[in-house]
Amino acid sequence: MKVLVLGAGIIGTSTAWHLLERGHDVTVVDRQPDAALETSFANAAQISVSYCEPWANRDAPAKLLKWMFRNDAPLLFRPHLDWQQWRWGLQFLSQCNDTAFERNVQQLVALGAYSHAALKDVVSATGISYNRLERGIAHYFTDQKSFDAAADAAQLMQKYGVQRQVVSRDELLRIEPAFQSFAHRIVGGTYTASDESGDARVFTQELARRCAARGVQFLFGHDIERLDKAGGIIAGVAVADRATGARRNLQADAIVVACGSYSAPLLRSVGVNLALYPGKGYSATFKLKRPELAPYVSTIDDEVKCAMSRLGDELRVAGTIELNGFDLSLDTPLARARCRMLAERIETVLPGVCDTRSEAEGGNPRFWTGLRPATPTNIPYIGRTRVRNLWVNAGHGTLGWTHGAGSGKALAELISGQRPDMAFGFCGMDSTRQPALTGSLAAP
Ligand SMILES: Cc1cc2nc3c(=O)[nH]c(=O)nc-3n(C[C@H](O)[C@H](O)[C@H](O)COP(=O)(O)OP(=O)(O)OC[C@H]3O[C@@H](n4cnc5c(N)ncnc54)[C@H](O)[C@@H]3O)c2cc1C
Repeated sequence: MKVLVLGAGIIGTSTAWHLLERGHDVTVVDRQPDAALETSFANAAQISVSYCEPWANRDAPAKLLKWMFRNDAPLLFRPHLDWQQWRWGLQFLSQCNDTAFERNVQQLVALGAYSHAALKDVVSATGISYNRLERGIAHYFTDQKSFDAAADAAQLMQKYGVQRQVVSRDELLRIEPAFQSFAHRIVGGTYTASDESGDARVFTQELARRCAARGVQFLFGHDIERLDKAGGIIAGVAVADRATGARRNLQADAIVVACGSYSAPLLRSVGVNLALYPGKGYSATFKLKRPELAPYVSTIDDEVKCAMSRLGDELRVAGTIELNGFDLSLDTPLARARCRMLAERIETVLPGVCDTRSEAEGGNPRFWTGLRPATPTNIPYIGRTRVRNLWVNAGHGTLGWTHGAGSGKALAELISGQRPDMAFGFCGMDSTRQPALTGSLAAP
């Protein structure tokens, strides 16, 4: 089958790989000059199958209100005169209860386990190296109340087969001694040995090269301008070469939209309405000054809700979510405050380990921002839309790297007429998908 994949982030590239493996003729289109140059570029690097709790939980509405006017809030909702944002917000609120939370966790764990296995298969088939560390993920708490609640969360995860352990401060420091100088603030933690970390950009770009070497055509530097719908199908995809301005109309038997947050406006233009909204996040990557003191275990800091991962001789710290439209600027007061917070936190928890000096002080920190394609449930849209030859693989929110390999494999299987072996509500073909989201996929 001739398949057109729109978007070469981790999701589109992984979809292309798995389609290729099933014998399809694949073309990938992306506006950037290489794969993984947007949201898959500099994320927190965690393959966190077990740390996959959705943002929507019973405490989220109160926290959102409390944090609304704080520039350093972990989750920030900045209201706009934008119906898409309000619709997303209302659907998010409808998920803030224990029943929805548990149902969403169940699906995220299923996709995570499937994806972890798929990632391991791809790595052993391709030999890609990407600063992978199979040292687990730890989560530490500085507040007793939050640590007490962590026991309930661990129990829920264990119910779905995730081996997340609650650990004392001493156990946590045995697992990762690097946090010794912050030990006085830590009250305890959790740890999952089976999780891992690695550079999503390097993996995705290497996978794209292997796809290209085996015959996948990549049209980089091409804007996807329009989906042309005729006779109930997508009859063509209008693309324009950014360098020359030359326009082409591409045809295929199946079209996969994997454009991250930009999937929503593209699909809306042909009547497919996804509850998908950008969740802006930030990362900072610092050179290690004292590599011998830096952590190997990827870690989540509960107090400021950031994650840190070692990538070779650098440390990446990332976090915070801003529901504030498609803005990608790094030079607003809000963005500067959030980047500063990441640098200050690293100095607090790992003093003297990284070179956190600003450029003005002679340092070379790399700050970055990306738009997580967020759904109200945290569950991505994977499957067929009501436009017969139009498929979607988008909405992976905080977990696109974790779920990338499996989402690509699952969609390639669906397009090939196979049923992926996991308990997951695929779009357009599964009655277990929650009604709000099935409804939102409807096209006229
Ligand atoms: C701060 C931060 C930390 C994160 N940490 C983690 C983590 O530790 N673990 C984890 O699992 N996930 C993490 N994530 C989430 C993860 O990075 C995303 O879910 C994932 O990258 C989404 O991949 P994608 O392929 O859907 O989107 P993208 O990577 O954005 O890919 C979409 C592609 O579509 C292209 N595109 C879009 N519109 C057009 C158009 N009109 N024309 C042409 N091309 C177009 C873009 O150029 C882009 O290459 C984090 C995200 C952020 C922001």
